[in-house]
Amino acid sequence: MKCDRCNGMMIHEQFFCPNGPFFSWRCLICGEVVDQTIIENRDYQSHGGEWDRRGKKSKT
Ligand SMILES: [Zn+2]
Repeated sequence: MKCDRCNGMMIHEQFFCPNGPFFSWRCLICGEVVDQTIIENRDYQSHGGEWDRRGKKSKT
């Protein structure tokens, strides 16, 4: 995975929040953090607001 801001390398890292530990992506270069919720929201928007749960992973 590459960073949206600087195109640097991102690592999957464990973070802790009040709800418990979770994993998200952190950029090694600029420190940008992208969590799964943000990624899913981005996908949602890029699909024009129409969320297809069945075809989520299919890229043809
Ligand atoms: Zn970055």
